[in-house]
Amino acid sequence: MAEKKLFTPGPLTTSVATKQAMTRDLGSRDTELIEIIKGIRQQLVQLAGVSTEQYTCIPLQGPGTYSLEAVLGTSVPKQGGKVLILENGAYGKRQAKICEVLGIPHKVQSYKLNEPISPESVEKALSDDGSYTHVTCVHCETTTGIMNPVEEIGKIVKSVRPDIVYFVDAMSSFGAVPLHMGDACIDFLVSSSNKNLESVPGWSYAIAKIDKLVACKGNARSLSFDLVAQYEGLQTNGQFRFTPPCHTFLAFNNALQELAAEGGIEGRAKRYRNNNNILISRMKALGFQQYLHPLHAGYIVTTFYYPSCPNFVFEDFYQRLSDNGKVIYPGKQVDGTFRLGNIGQLFAADIEHLVDCIKCVLTDMGVQVPLKP
Ligand SMILES: *Cc1c(COP(=O)(O)O)cnc(C)c1O
Repeated sequence: MAEKKLFTPGPLTTSVATKQAMTRDLGSRDTELIEIIKGIRQQLVQLAGVSTEQYTCIPLQGPGTYSLEAVLGTSVPKQGGKVLILENGAYGKRQAKICEVLGIPHKVQSYKLNEPISPESVEKALSDDGSYTHVTCVHCETTTGIMNPVEEIGKIVKSVRPDIVYFVDAMSSFGAVPLHMGDACIDFLVSSSNKNLESVPGWSYAIAKIDKLVACKGNARSLSFDLVAQYEGLQTNGQFRFTPPCHTFLAFNNALQELAAEGGIEGRAKRYRNNNNILISRMKALGFQQYLHPLHAGYIVTTFYYPSCPNFVFEDFYQRLSDNGKVIYPGKQVDGTFRLGNIGQLFAADIEHLVDCIKCVLTDMGVQVPLKP
């Protein structure tokens, strides 16, 4: 079976060595596995720019959404909690949905899909309503690829209301966009194993300020998603409370070594930025238009408008690229767009090859390139 390259925001293309690291069995109580998990937790805290004395990492089985749900369901007190959700895309809306299902009082403050959250408006929202206990937002809103100014928001939140818990979904930015949790005043951050750290799916994690985390004991609205209980289990005997995806930690451990060999977050950022520059300049040369203003767009995933030619049918375009081993992503919430990710084990030559392939596929579909404006 031919390997496909994933030009998506995750799961991503992983290295052969990362996949091969998983091809052996380990029991969940194996001391080797326990040591590997311990090392991974420490390294993730360090990648967040903070110390393991004040912050901890709590891995949890399942996709990123499970950790989002665990943080919201555990950190908001059962009495008197209220969350201000700052939203400019589908992942902000997902937090609102979680609060709705869990019965957590919340207010959604929405922004345009193509405009970053403005820190000034957060200051106003907090002075208009003094009852918020939590503020949350998404760092890279993968819906469009827009970057939100999480550092500025964090500083404003803490200057207006130092007691507020600040939570950031850094799922598609962590590991590739430098972020210092302490400087950004973030109390809880979540990401997953299958995004910029370039490992396989299976688990996600929260990085939390320890004092804020332990203060949440007894809040959880669910047994499986109890972040404090998960933390206590790991601190006590190094084990997950319930069966962990053992093999995937072997893969992740290898992926972290690859990150270090690449020069850490800075090195990875450099490759992704280069990928993104090539992608955008070559797509523009074909006549494609970018949805976001370049000042607001990050370098993780890029949203492009469909060509205006009536011969262009997205499903056909997608299938033809997939048949050529290139998996792309449909648009989300913005009609007439699709997305291209440039993260994972992708290099300049892969991006060049993708755009060459897009050009051929369009020609085969009867869409004239360069596109007509
Ligand atoms: C990928 C992603 C998630 C989590 O998605 P899952 O499918 O649950 O892993 C959450 N937020 C953002 C911004 C993401 O990019």
